[in-house]
Amino acid sequence: MATLRFQALKETLNRKPIPIEEKERRSELFGRNVFTESVMRQFLTKEAFQSVMEANATGKKIDRSIADHISTGMKEWAITKGVTHYTHWFQPLTGTTAEKHDAFFETIGDGLAIEKFGGGQLVQQEPDASSFPHGGIRNTFEARGYTAWDPTSPAFIYGTTLCIPSVFVSYTGDALDFKTPLLRALHAVDQAATDVAKYFDKNVNKVQATLGWEQEYFLIDSALAASRPDLQLAGRTLLGHSPAKGQQLDDHYFGSIPSRVLSYMRDLEKESMLLGIPVKTRHNEVAPNQFELAPIFEEANLAVDHNSLLMDIMHKVAERHNFVVLFHEKPFAGINGSGKHNNWSLSTDTGVNLLGPGSTPMKNLQFLTFFINTIKAVHDNEELLRATIASASNDFRLGANEAPPAIISTFIGSQLTEVLDELEKVTDGKLSPAEKTELKLNVVGKIPEILLDNTDRNRTSSFAFTGNKFEFRAVGSTANCAEPMTALNSIVAKQLRDFKKEVDSLIKGKKMKKDDAIFNVLREYIKDSKNIRFEGDGYSDEWEKEAAKRGLSNNRNTPEALKALIKKETVEMYKELGVMNDVEIKARYEIQLEEYIMRVQIESRILGDIARNHVIPTAIRYQNILIKNVRGLKDIFGDDFKMHSKEQLEITKEISVHIEKINSGITDMIEARKKANKLEEAEEKAFAYCNEVKPFFEVIRYHCDKLELLIDDEIWPLTKYRELLFTR
Ligand code: ADP
Ligand code: MG
Repeated sequence: MATLRFQALKETLNRKPIPIEEKERRSELFGRNVFTESVMRQFLTKEAFQSVMEANATGKKIDRSIADHISTGMKEWAITKGVTHYTHWFQPLTGTTAEKHDAFFETIGDGLAIEKFGGGQLVQQEPDASSFPHGGIRNTFEARGYTAWDPTSPAFIYGTTLCIPSVFVSYTGDALDFKTPLLRALHAVDQAATDVAKYFDKNVNKVQATLGWEQEYFLIDSALAASRPDLQLAGRTLLGHSPAKGQQLDDHYFGSIPSRVLSYMRDLEKESMLLGIPVKTRHNEVAPNQFELAPIFEEANLAVDHNSLLMDIMHKVAERHNFVVLFHEKPFAGINGSGKHNNWSLSTDTGVNLLGPGSTPMKNLQFLTFFINTIKAVHDNEELLRATIASASNDFRLGANEAPPAIISTFIGSQLTEVLDELEKVTDGKLSPAEKTELKLNVVGKIPEILLDNTDRNRTSSFAFTGNKFEFRAVGSTANCAEPMTALNSIVAKQLRDFKKEVDSLIKGKKMKKDDAIFNVLREYIKDSKNIRFEGDGYSDEWEKEAAKRGLSNNRNTPEALKALIKKETVEMYKELGVMNDVEIKARYEIQLEEYIMRVQIESRILGDIARNHVIPTAIRYQNILIKNVRGLKDIFGDDFKMHSKEQLEITKEISVHIEKINSGITDMIEARKKANKLEEAEEKAFAYCNEVKPFFEVIRYHCDKLELLIDDEIWPLTKYRELLFTR
């Protein structure tokens, strides 16, 4: 019976916002639980402090003897804050983050004990790695994995645990996590971008990639979520008819934040502040019960850590407020999905944003160099970028029925399009003084510091330039940003390396002036990369056709998309840059296929269960009510009963049709699953799940949703869309 649903509704309606006290200013809370530079000065010896700073700036290894001093300082600080345990905190290839807590507490014999945290424990740990995905990197007899401290991301305290951001590698040194390749990619882009930046300013010694993510999510009352097995187990609804009113009126987007939600957000922001996550923006999103949270951008590695940490904390804080956070890209059919825009740029140690237009022609030539190289990199590697955001859940947001096409393109706005069109006309070879003056004054010199049409952005572009950064919009809300960020920074690093080689060879070989050489190479890049630029409606069917003509990829599902991860060009690029080796690339490919298979398999089972054990029995129950009613009518009206029971009989028949379709659909789906499970190769199996199993979801759902409309609301067991989305 529908008792759980009604209990959940009652509970939800009785909830009150939890009061949040804010006695201190946010700026005072900020970073309080982080082992920041100023805390280090206080708790570390001078030598230890220097060593951490150096490791941070140059990647220099920290000496083991110094590690002992650092760990002691860290422990002292942590103990002043009531900490009892420590953990290496890392990001394995599935799930969000992992930790295993150990106490500082140690016995020293004679019934005595002390708090201890040695350098060895800080630098390296050996968690029980056997349960993390490794894609064949670890054999069973050598199942060891190590976590190692990443000193570029500061340690922090959560609850009573000291968390040490770490990488996770196998016994052979191969990466088993998201962070390791990211750090390598960031190093590669630093070197390549610094070399190119030196054309414009000799004082540049380091370039950092910056990332500002925007996290979208849904909040559903925990009682309501618990009343739906699909939300509970898959994080999305596998069935449910759309409500009479959805997001058409945009009233949620423009309305005020509901009070229970606001209380959650404030609590979450407080926690974020303590952990040094600089969250700044909060607002309602397009769909009912959908929201967004965005921080001030940070260095990319730190920003990635902060996003992973925040996603964890969002779940934890939600518990206190009786909410469940849904990060799934498409929790509700027919309603806006969730993404995680990745705003990305490059910034120098001299404080210049390399993707920000400047006030002089020289600064703008630098801007154009990085701008055009990025576009060229995206053009040459669009299929790889698409692959890095592929997942079973993001498939519903890209390339699916209600979703925009899975095409990567870049929008740059009319002003910059004009500039690139002008640059395309630059003479081949050395430039005349007149041409140079013209370029400097009227083309490059005219780029304004603030680009007007980028304030009114094209929201349909998957990789848009937004004034002083690129915004990778196709990233899914469940994603770990490290994956797209590893790819993006790698392809830009590779591109900038190639650019430098070409420019240098024109300078040396053809005796060109530096500016002439740069203009010449950029001109060719503009021509070569034109196909990736698209200013129109990226959601339209016309664009899909146009993109196909241009030869851009449009990989609609994960198994198709993932293939780009192991393409020859991808493997060569990652190897050349030292970001990933053959083994690591292959392992990731396997892990992602496996994850895809598991997700579809799990959803298929849940759907089968709900449809057979909840929907069909309810349908039969209602059918019996109708039949009883018809029998009663017959008793009363005799031969006239047909006239009076016409509609009841019609509904009874309809119900039978739906039951038949659902039940036979499930039988066939199980058959398809059995066949798929027999396949040995992960790739083949993933395609089987995608093409043979998944199509049943829609058929089964369609008929369940029709039943939802027919059956008495009193006995319908599954909390309805209207209730999930509008009850607070
Ligand atoms: P929106 O896209 O919602 O209109 P903004 O364009 O103001 O908002 O900023 C979106 C995000 O871009 C913010 O999280 C911000 O921190 C980030 N951002 C701004 N500048 C940069 C930059 N140079 N590098 C990376 N991210 C940036
Ligand atoms: Mg945005």
